[in-house]
Amino acid sequence: MSDYLQQEIKFLSGVGPKRAELLNKELQVYTFEDLLYYFPYKYIDKSKLYTISELNTELPYIQIQGKIIGFQTIGGGNKKRLVAQFADNTGKMELIWFKGLAYIQKSLQMNHEYIVFGKPAYFSGKYSIIHPEVESAAKNENAIQASLQAHYNTSEKLKNNFLTSRAISKLINNLMISLVGKIDETLPYELMKKYKLISLGEALFNIHFPQSTELLKNATYRLKFEELFYIQLNILQRKTIRTHKSNGLVFSKVGDYLNLFYKNNLPFELTDAQKRVLKEIRKDIGSGKQMNRLLQGDVGSGKTLVAMMSMLIALDNGYQACIMAPTEILANQHFETIKNFLKDLPVTISLLSGSTKTSARREIHKDLISGQLQILIGTHALIEDAVKFKNVGLVVIDEQHKFGVAQRAKLWKKNLHPPHILVMTATPIPRTLAMTIYGDLDVSVIDELPPGRKPIQTIHLYDSKRLRMFGFISQQIEEGRQIYIVYPLIKESEKMDYKDLEDGYESISRAFPPPKYAVSIVHGQMKPEEKEAAMNLFVRGQTHIMVATTVIEVGVNVQNASVMVIESAERFGLSQLHQLRGRVGRGADQSYCILMSSYKLSNEARKRIEIMTSTNDGFEIADADLKLRGPGDMEGTQQSGLAFDLKIANLAHDGQLIQYVRNIAEEILDSDPMLEKQENQILAKKLKKILHKKVDFSVIS
Ligand code: ADP
Ligand code: MG
Repeated sequence: MSDYLQQEIKFLSGVGPKRAELLNKELQVYTFEDLLYYFPYKYIDKSKLYTISELNTELPYIQIQGKIIGFQTIGGGNKKRLVAQFADNTGKMELIWFKGLAYIQKSLQMNHEYIVFGKPAYFSGKYSIIHPEVESAAKNENAIQASLQAHYNTSEKLKNNFLTSRAISKLINNLMISLVGKIDETLPYELMKKYKLISLGEALFNIHFPQSTELLKNATYRLKFEELFYIQLNILQRKTIRTHKSNGLVFSKVGDYLNLFYKNNLPFELTDAQKRVLKEIRKDIGSGKQMNRLLQGDVGSGKTLVAMMSMLIALDNGYQACIMAPTEILANQHFETIKNFLKDLPVTISLLSGSTKTSARREIHKDLISGQLQILIGTHALIEDAVKFKNVGLVVIDEQHKFGVAQRAKLWKKNLHPPHILVMTATPIPRTLAMTIYGDLDVSVIDELPPGRKPIQTIHLYDSKRLRMFGFISQQIEEGRQIYIVYPLIKESEKMDYKDLEDGYESISRAFPPPKYAVSIVHGQMKPEEKEAAMNLFVRGQTHIMVATTVIEVGVNVQNASVMVIESAERFGLSQLHQLRGRVGRGADQSYCILMSSYKLSNEARKRIEIMTSTNDGFEIADADLKLRGPGDMEGTQQSGLAFDLKIANLAHDGQLIQYVRNIAEEILDSDPMLEKQENQILAKKLKKILHKKVDFSVIS
């Protein structure tokens, strides 16, 4: 059976080589199975007809019955279009075609009852539908019994070759006919019974040709259930395997290093969230199982301190520890911060980065292998082959999304025993994503900021209010503060973006001229040394304003910076805006984020700006982001390749179902971790097939 479904699509009746090529290229449909799992994106309820007076632009794809009362060809060149006046007894609207004008006009008759399908738009006082599907009303009466009509995404290219949604539906119909009674069930019977799931065959049939709204609902549920269930089963089985191996280093005690730090050096109370997370980490590293933990916390929530205290526990148990950061500046900052925290304690710390001199580097290598050096902080330089620890017990990775999978793996191939891993990220990840993408990791969350922080005030200004913004920042500079001004840079190679940045830099330099003011500029096309130098001027307080691209997005900590101006804010995504805003508000002063934009804002851009001005909560923002953009675009999902592959479930909207199937998968693995029982063979088999197809679900381990 599965062989049958693996056949190339060109062998399906109604396809052939030419259409096969189009289906390959446009829809990534290569096999019978791909087509079977090419699901409709929506259904039209053919039992409902709208009237023209009921139209509004919020409506999806709908149908209207009426008559064509006139044709007109308008415009020339590629604006040439056929416009039909379409009327029912409540009003008039337009049907518009840009292609196949002559053919369409010939095939449609005036004053004949038609049913048209399409999404209504509203332009210059009139409703219209562009490229509607048109069907004779008389003919439609036969179709009305089928009531729910599936619609498939196609492309212009496909449509031009007559592979419309309806044509795809016909192909799927051909496939279905050849499949009757041949679809192998992929879930155990007991499970289907227990959770009231219809069979795979019935589900696949009804997802394409729903026989009723009830059956469509059941089909959708069954297919989503299955999709999400196998993801969870896969992830949880990996986790089971990892945590059942008792090869983790045991950090059983807290000793002098942590105690001394706590007693003499800790300058403030830990927040409750920090205490809770430390407890979670201590439980892990004392358990004999290897820790693989994701530490999430908004910018400024105090993750570094938690990581450092965990490292001290490693030291207390006779092990070394390291932190890997994505940039030199960040590594530098961690080094300074940690050195400062550990002042007067007998701990050896070094910094290793690309710019570490050869002699110093040699020294570090020597002290690492001898165990003389206890804490190493650095960049990618940490994973070079020459870097060998005597016994590294804890590896901390800051800002996980900037590191590739292979790089991470390299770090812990260095020991016999895998060290404990703590991955820190300031990009809040919505729960559903975390459960799916990082589902085999344990997650700790610092959901509280240290006390005394003043929430950042965020305002939105249109470009015409630029002088007001200049006035405000000069006032802040007057008070001794520093300012970031960030320009969007969608692609590092785009010339236009640099023009924006450079024009901006010029106008700011004119408004804030030397010698009174100093302005520095940083962008991705500068040499690393130049970048570093310009950044350091700002870090040391020698320049007042830093004009930059998003290269400053990650982690830089200048406590004295109190204003973040984001130019063309409409061009940034939500999580990026939030990351940028997090660069200020790190000191005791009131901080501000100013979002500059043009008047022309898309609905989504307006929404993003509204969210930014209404909340500082990273998780709320991440959730909104997930809903606005869909999981495919979320940071961190790209590497996983997973979010793209979902055929029917949706990480933004199926959160409850994810949790539900995760519990079910957990229950099954609890009683049969390796899926060896007879009743679970169907699961083992399908899982093997999935694993065979996709290389890796998990980003980190
Ligand atoms: P993150 O890495 O999570 O963005 P940091 O660890 O850099 O945050 O902490 C931000 C700032 O808050 C640092 O200056 C740090 O010293 C300070 N900080 C951390 N924990 C506390 C606390 N419990 N109380 C007060 N200040 C804290
Ligand atoms: Mg940080």
